[in-house]
Amino acid sequence: MRAIVNGRILMPDGEIAGKALLFGERIAGLGDPAGADEVIDAGGWYVAPGLVDVHIHGYLGADASDGDADGLRRMAKGVLANGVTSFLPTTMTVSWDTLETVFGQIKGLMAESRSAGFDGAEILGCHAEGPFINPKRKGAQAGEHILPPDAEKILPYADVIRLLTLAPEMPGGEECVRVLKEKTDIVLSVGHTDADYDQAAAAARAGANHATHLFNAMPPLLHRAPGAVAALLEADAYCELIADTFHVDRRLFPLLRKIKGDKLTLITDCTRAGGMPDGEYTLGGQPIFVEGVACRLRDGTIAGSVLKLNDAVRNWRDYAHAPMYEAVRAASLTPAESVGLADKKGSLTPGHDADIILMDDDCRVSAAWVRGARKY
Ligand SMILES: [Zn+2]
Repeated sequence: MRAIVNGRILMPDGEIAGKALLFGERIAGLGDPAGADEVIDAGGWYVAPGLVDVHIHGYLGADASDGDADGLRRMAKGVLANGVTSFLPTTMTVSWDTLETVFGQIKGLMAESRSAGFDGAEILGCHAEGPFINPKRKGAQAGEHILPPDAEKILPYADVIRLLTLAPEMPGGEECVRVLKEKTDIVLSVGHTDADYDQAAAAARAGANHATHLFNAMPPLLHRAPGAVAALLEADAYCELIADTFHVDRRLFPLLRKIKGDKLTLITDCTRAGGMPDGEYTLGGQPIFVEGVACRLRDGTIAGSVLKLNDAVRNWRDYAHAPMYEAVRAASLTPAESVGLADKKGSLTPGHDADIILMDDDCRVSAAWVRGARKY
């Protein structure tokens, strides 16, 4: 048993000071550090649950869609510095052959990343962003690889794919949602969609209770055409937000916090340019140009991000005016809940995996434990 003392412990519903956090492979609880094998002094920093990123394409030059298992390992190690202790590598709309290869690699890494010797964050499965999307709202996705929604293609990978982004208004879309909802635990997410209000509301009723980067790659909310955004805000659906203040204006953050509460999920949508200098990279086979927080295709279309999840937490705290524990929850327990893993991930309550980070007031991360093992 180990103990972290002298920290501000962030629980899902508040901050606790003056107690020790006890853990082995799992969180044991708050208590007395006497008798612990190791006592770690947090130096007054936050003791927070490890962050969970359910939408991240790449990091440090690697991209989940490359079909390169070593690249996935590099991502898993790299994101620890941002406080991410578990994540869903997110594929783009690339060829179906490539996707099948990647699904196989991610399946292998799900097991590997749970082994004691693994040097990185845990891989919880795959977020498949496409290929069942709307060409009109493809954003930076490659149009030639878009396929019509077809549950049969996905069923063999139900043990790898945890989250599937699709456009429910495409022919067969709602049926695909229904079949996958009935036969699998895959979470269906509305995204890269041209759905109007009624189509998106119908998809939510059919079981699509997640929204992929709300506002981005979907029609805007207009007062005579409320569109998918209004339907997803109103529905009992988790809504992803890229809180880099570039994809969505930060002046909307307080309103989103009021509407979605604990269903607002911070994500990065990070590309391989994450953690790298400005310059030219690729995303889903297309060139992208990175300058500061902006990633764009040659024609100016926004193409993913270079956001780090700990920076998203800071932005949400500062601009949504949320207390730290709530901002951390939006990047830990809420995303874990959104993909059905709230019993294991995203919280420092007893019985959860001991995924723990130390973070200062600027959300800089100094240490990370994954299932009780120090990895950063
Ligand atoms: Zn994405």
